[in-house]
Amino acid sequence: MSLIEVRSAAKRYGDLAALRDVSFDIERGEWISVMGPSGSGKTTLVNLLAGLDTPTEGEVRFEGRDLARMGAAELALHRRENVGLVFQQYHLVPYLTSLENVMLAQYLHSLPDEGEARRALAEVGLEARAGHLPGEISGGEQQRVCVARALINHPRLILADEPTGNLDAANAAQVLGLFTRLHNAGGTIVMVTHDPEIGRLANRRFELRHGELHAERRSTREEEELFDDVLQQFWERREAEGGGNECADFTPPMLDNRSVLLSMRARGILREEGEAFALTEGGERRARDIVRRHRLAECLFRETLSIRNNEQIEANACVLEHVLSPEVTESICRFLRHPAACPHGRPIPRGACCGDGGPI
Ligand code: ADP
Ligand code: MG
Repeated sequence: MSLIEVRSAAKRYGDLAALRDVSFDIERGEWISVMGPSGSGKTTLVNLLAGLDTPTEGEVRFEGRDLARMGAAELALHRRENVGLVFQQYHLVPYLTSLENVMLAQYLHSLPDEGEARRALAEVGLEARAGHLPGEISGGEQQRVCVARALINHPRLILADEPTGNLDAANAAQVLGLFTRLHNAGGTIVMVTHDPEIGRLANRRFELRHGELHAERRSTREEEELFDDVLQQFWERREAEGGGNECADFTPPMLDNRSVLLSMRARGILREEGEAFALTEGGERRARDIVRRHRLAECLFRETLSIRNNEQIEANACVLEHVLSPEVTESICRFLRHPAACPHGRPIPRGACCGDGGPI
């Protein structure tokens, strides 16, 4: 039995169909992203899954039990026991400290335990903020308190409605890191997001349009690009650990996303090494090639085409790296006289054309 089964669910508000005849299953351990324009029914869907609202038609079942058939008390218990909710607006009680806000959630579970609440805050990196009021901490920190609060009961289903919508890139990355950890530990996540970069962290993507749901798997091309990006992150992390190189700025924590890494293992790009993943020989070659293409493209844009806008260079290099053929890559390398480093000073892996014994 799937964790969640939705059967022909619809939600109407008078004449308005917020959700139309929606059916799907969600398996344990899946990460689903829900995307779609404003007003397309994303929050309505999350509310139905949470049991905060009931469909006007159809069923929403959690482990086989129809939420609409539960009494109010039973439903409240189900939400407390099984569901963790994170919203875009933080919904913290303004006159309670971070610790007290987390403990309030425990109180609802009738299990206030200060030690556990402190550990939950420590897990989201907020030990030092335990005694602060929401007004005294940043938006990113408030959202992390919400994540700590949502996770206090180890919910089997985590529902997040644009959890990074109000956060800057660095804070968003941190919050996504928390979700990634949960996912890797087997948690089931349904996350509404506008950001395609975040959307592709998921195994499956639900697209809502005018209340209609389209479930999509990653296309082969998306998957290949995703793998390339992960390989690049592998390479950059290794360089950063080797020291000396500036680290990549914001990258969503795909590198730590177990489901992506498992797909890459299945494709022979990675192998498991104890708890961690390492590049296979083929993966190593592919990583070197993608990094080489990316950095050569950067050189081309900056030195030959005299583009000075770093963001533009980066954005275009990110596209080009996926489409340059080996032959064209060699031509660019020759044309640029086999540059040793990209415009940021990071080494460009040598290619066969570089005449010094090929790849090192
Ligand atoms: P999204 O989260 O994708 O922006 P929502 O699920 O919040 O969209 O809303 C879907 C549609 O349902 C919108 O047209 C919205 O105005 C309408 N709607 C949502 N909640 C209510 C409500 N309580 N009463 C009436 N209409 C609502
Ligand atoms: Mg919404």
